[in-house]
Amino acid sequence: MISLKLANILTNIAEVKKSDPGGKEDVLSLMNAARTLRDDPVIMDRIIKGEEHGKLNGIDRYCYGLIKEYLEKGRIEEYDRLALSYSDDLIKFIRITGLGRKRIFSIYDYFRIKDINSLKCVFKGNSDKDIIKSAGLRKDLLTPLFLERIRWSLKYYEGLAGKTPRWPAEFFANKMAASLEKLKEVKKAQITGSIRRKESLIEDIDILVLPKFNNGIYGFEKSACLLKNIGKLPFIKKLISIKKEKNDISAIYGTIYEINAEIIIAGDGTWSRQLFKTTGSRKHLFKLKEYAKANSIPYPDRTASADLNSEEDIYRSLGLDHIAVELRQGRDEIELSSKNRLPDLVKMEDIRGDLHIHSKWSDGLIEYSGIIDSAKKQNYEYIALSDHSVSNYYGNGLDAERLLAKMSFMKELRKEYDGIDILMGGEIDIRKPGVFDYPPEIIRKLDIAIASLHSSFTNSARQNTDRAVSALEEDYFDLLAHPTGNVFGNRAPLFIDIDRIIEASAKYGKALEINSYYMRMDLDEDNARKAKEAGSMLAVNTDTHRPGNMEMMQLGVDLARRAGLEAKDIINTMTAEELKIWRKNRKKTGRFL
Ligand SMILES: [Zn+2]
Ligand SMILES: [Zn+2]
Repeated sequence: MISLKLANILTNIAEVKKSDPGGKEDVLSLMNAARTLRDDPVIMDRIIKGEEHGKLNGIDRYCYGLIKEYLEKGRIEEYDRLALSYSDDLIKFIRITGLGRKRIFSIYDYFRIKDINSLKCVFKGNSDKDIIKSAGLRKDLLTPLFLERIRWSLKYYEGLAGKTPRWPAEFFANKMAASLEKLKEVKKAQITGSIRRKESLIEDIDILVLPKFNNGIYGFEKSACLLKNIGKLPFIKKLISIKKEKNDISAIYGTIYEINAEIIIAGDGTWSRQLFKTTGSRKHLFKLKEYAKANSIPYPDRTASADLNSEEDIYRSLGLDHIAVELRQGRDEIELSSKNRLPDLVKMEDIRGDLHIHSKWSDGLIEYSGIIDSAKKQNYEYIALSDHSVSNYYGNGLDAERLLAKMSFMKELRKEYDGIDILMGGEIDIRKPGVFDYPPEIIRKLDIAIASLHSSFTNSARQNTDRAVSALEEDYFDLLAHPTGNVFGNRAPLFIDIDRIIEASAKYGKALEINSYYMRMDLDEDNARKAKEAGSMLAVNTDTHRPGNMEMMQLGVDLARRAGLEAKDIINTMTAEELKIWRKNRKKTGRFL
């Protein structure tokens, strides 16, 4: 997708320029612009529409020029020149591994690797021993763990092929649906498919369109004509294919956002059934058909005569409770629905606070007034300003002295804003098992203590897991942030034994975070489900660093719903008072209250 693709190119240029002695200023402005492109899809849309750089916060003249060049020519000359010896994905791969550039470049150079495929070949065709020997590098620099990390990252990279995070895609999809609804032949347009099911990663955009003319009889010719007209809309780059089926017609387009969109033309009487069918998932529909067959109930396909005006009606016709879109995964939802045992999924309104927000004390770039405004807009009762600790050098982490100074500052801040509880939090680095960035007596002073693993990419799973578990064991830690360390397409997860971490969290009555920042979404839905089943609590936080990030709470709630979580599974659905009681009592009960 275009915003992420450009962010990647700018980060790659920065990566190469880091070795350039005079390049520091460029590196900083490239990193800043990349982050802005990633976190603010509105910016991309404004540039496409031709807005000048002067008005675009976070993108300077230099980066604006590069972006414009890409939009006009589909390439950036400076980048082509810089990246001449390594392919785009190979430079990105260094970031994914989290390993230093120097050692990786030395492997690339030794084996004359130019692209990711040749890297794969080297790692498939040679044992670790061969690689270490032939690369002629010092053994202490090229450890087996280092090579394992490269293999692990290669697998991660392959798993991402064709996938993109939902959040920016949904932003563009909403824009497309809105402009489709403005067409005079169109009655309504609705996003469907994986975006509607609220998956964290998606492959394309699906939109169901109901034209005014498809009353009663489905007009194939008129519908095909509409699809051709849609092809002329400004966000469409080209028509890729048109597909005519028994009951409808649809088309796949390439878009200016560099993500494909499928548009399906619906009929008046069949709208609900088409929405139901296009929403999927395939596995869910397959299991529903099996269920209908086994119970001799007619399956509500589009030729069914029953009067089905909503998805509720469809499920009712099958003798089932309505299944929320997030749960349509083909797991156990049909069985649960048939027994009236579907979970009462957590809702955005249940969230009473955000426990992971970075302020200007560390690396947050958001005004206090902005944080409070967002919190009030979301009807929060409390927020926690949880800044980095001292080991986090690039995150401007606080040492104990600055932490105490921040506590005094917080007293003043609370006087300025009433109607909301501002908690003193901390995101504290776990250095090694049992060794944290602050001593226990300091951590105990915090209202919320978050333990965190950062940059531990050459540690073994044993080491990392021991570190995480050692924090969960301490009564003064409340939760573990972004447990796997995954940053979508930018950082492969740490080596970690997530099952052991879940077990420890449940045992010591702690919470594991669902980090809602759209590039993280960590824990993912499978592990969040496992955590609940094991008896661990969860916390849904945004890890906010920039304006607009706090609204990503919705993404964490979406993920929690896909994991089947209810409000009672999540600590930040508690009132501030309940949260205090939970902190005090959890060791005895192992679970909330
Ligand atoms: Zn963190
Ligand atoms: Zn953080």
